[in-house]
Amino acid sequence: MDVLVKQGNFFASKKTKNVSFRKDTLKRLQKEILAREDDIAEAIYQDFKKPKFETLAAETQFVLAELNLTLKNIDDWASPERKSGTLINWPSSDWVYKEPYGAVLIIAPWNYPFQLAFAPMIAAIAAGNTVVVKPSEVTPHTASIISEIINEVFDPGHVSVVEGGVEVSQKLLAEKWDYIFFTGSTRVGRIVYEAAAKHLTPVTLELGGKNPTIVDETASINLAAKRIVWGKFLNAGQTCIATDYILVHKTVKDSLVGALKQNIIKCYGENIEKSPDFSRTVSKRHFEGLKDMLEGQEILFGGKSNDDDNYLEPTLVNNPKLDSKLMRGEIFGPILPIIAYTNEDDIERYLSNYGKPLATYVFSNRKAFQKKIINRYSFGGGAINDTVIQITNKKLPFGGVGASGIGAYHGKRSFDLFSHQKSIIKKANWFDAPLRYPPYNLPKKIVKRIKYLF
Ligand code: NAD
Repeated sequence: MDVLVKQGNFFASKKTKNVSFRKDTLKRLQKEILAREDDIAEAIYQDFKKPKFETLAAETQFVLAELNLTLKNIDDWASPERKSGTLINWPSSDWVYKEPYGAVLIIAPWNYPFQLAFAPMIAAIAAGNTVVVKPSEVTPHTASIISEIINEVFDPGHVSVVEGGVEVSQKLLAEKWDYIFFTGSTRVGRIVYEAAAKHLTPVTLELGGKNPTIVDETASINLAAKRIVWGKFLNAGQTCIATDYILVHKTVKDSLVGALKQNIIKCYGENIEKSPDFSRTVSKRHFEGLKDMLEGQEILFGGKSNDDDNYLEPTLVNNPKLDSKLMRGEIFGPILPIIAYTNEDDIERYLSNYGKPLATYVFSNRKAFQKKIINRYSFGGGAINDTVIQITNKKLPFGGVGASGIGAYHGKRSFDLFSHQKSIIKKANWFDAPLRYPPYNLPKKIVKRIKYLF
C-alpha cells in the first residue's frame, strides 16, 4: 500500500522523533480547526442534523481542549521519566523512555465523527507516530472535511486520510501496522482484533455495550430525569456511553416516567421534530433497525417517526421483554426502555444478562447502594447521580472492559498509549557487587533475603 510505504519512509527519516516538529504540526492543526470550526459543525449538521451546540461542545471544543493540554505538556510527557532505583542494581539511574510505535491506523465511527478521529490522532502525532485515519463512510460530509483539514496541515507521509467503507477498512486492516486504534461496534472490534493478531499488532478497541441506568427509591427523581434525558437524547441517543435502559425501583417508576416526559418536552418542546436541538438517526439502515425494535412494544411516550429524514422521536418503552429485539443488543438511538425492579436480585438478573457495558449509572441518595453497584459490577466507567459526564475529565481514563473494549485513553494516558514504554537502567561503573556472578557460593540464608533488594 502506497501510503504505508510513504509513511514508512517518513518515519525512517526520524522527523517525528523531534518534539518541536510534533509541536509545530499540532499548532498548525489547532489553527486550522479554529479557522474551520463552523465548517466542521456545518458538515456534521449535513450528515445527521446534529445541533451546532453539540458539535462545538462535544466535537471541536473537546478536541481543542485535548490539543491545548497536549501542547502544554508534550515536552514533559515525551521526556524520559526517572524512576527510583532498587538496591539490587545499586548504583544506577532508572528510566522509562517514550518511543513512538511507528505507523498507526485509526478507524473511526460516525456518531462523534470528528472527535473520535481527531482525539486519538492528536495523541498519536504527539507521541511521534505517523498516522492513517479512516473516517466513517456513514457521515460523508464529515469524512470530506476531515480529509480537507488533514491534507491542508500534514505531509501525507506523516498523516493521511483514507476514505471508504468496509472494503477499504478491511484492505487497511490486512496491512502490517505498528498500532491500531479502533472505535466502533463490538462486532467489528472482533474483526479488527483478529486482523491485528496476524501481525501481533497492539490495539486499543473502544467499543459499545448496553449501558444500564439504575434509579433506586431514594433518588432525587426530577434531577435524575433531567440528567438522564440530557445524556440519552443528546445526539439522538447515538452516544456510546448513553443510557441504554433504565432499571427503576417499582415504587418510584411512575414518578420517574412522569418526570422523564416533562423533561423531554422542556428540552425539545411539544413538537420535537421542529426542535433545532434534536439530531436525526444517521442513516436509513439504522433508522429502520430502530423502528423494528419498537414493534410490539408498549410505548409510554413518543414513537412518532418521519421516513423523509430518519426522524425518530424520543421514545419511552414500558417493561420490554428480555428476549425482544430492543433488549437483545445495544439500542444506539432515541429509544429508552424503562423496567421496574423490586429487589437487588432483579438488578442482578438484568445486568448479568449482557457483557460488561461501557458505562453504568446509579441514581440514589444511599451511599451504600452506590458503592455496592460500583464494587459488584464490572463496566468501563460511569457516574453517580448523573450520566455521560465521566468523559469530560481528561484525568480519567476512558475505555471499556470485556465486550466494551480494550485499553483507555484521554489526556496523558493517550500519549502513553501511543508510546512504547522502554525501560532502561543506566548502571554506574565505579562499583560492581559480586553477588550475582557464578560460582554461586552465597550462604542460603542470605540468598533467601534477596527479595528485600528488589
Ligand atoms: P461500526 O463498528 O459499524 O464501524 C466503525 C468503523 O469500522 C467504520 O469506520 C467502518 O467503516 C468500519 N467497519 C465497519 N464494518 C467493518 C468490517 N466488517 N470490517 C472492517 N471495518 C469495518 O460502528 P459505527 O456504527 O460506526 O459506530 C457505532 C458503534 O460504535 C456503537 O456500538 C458504539 O457504542 C460504538 N462506539 C464506541 C465508542 C467508544 O468510545 N467506546 C465511541 C463511539 C461509538
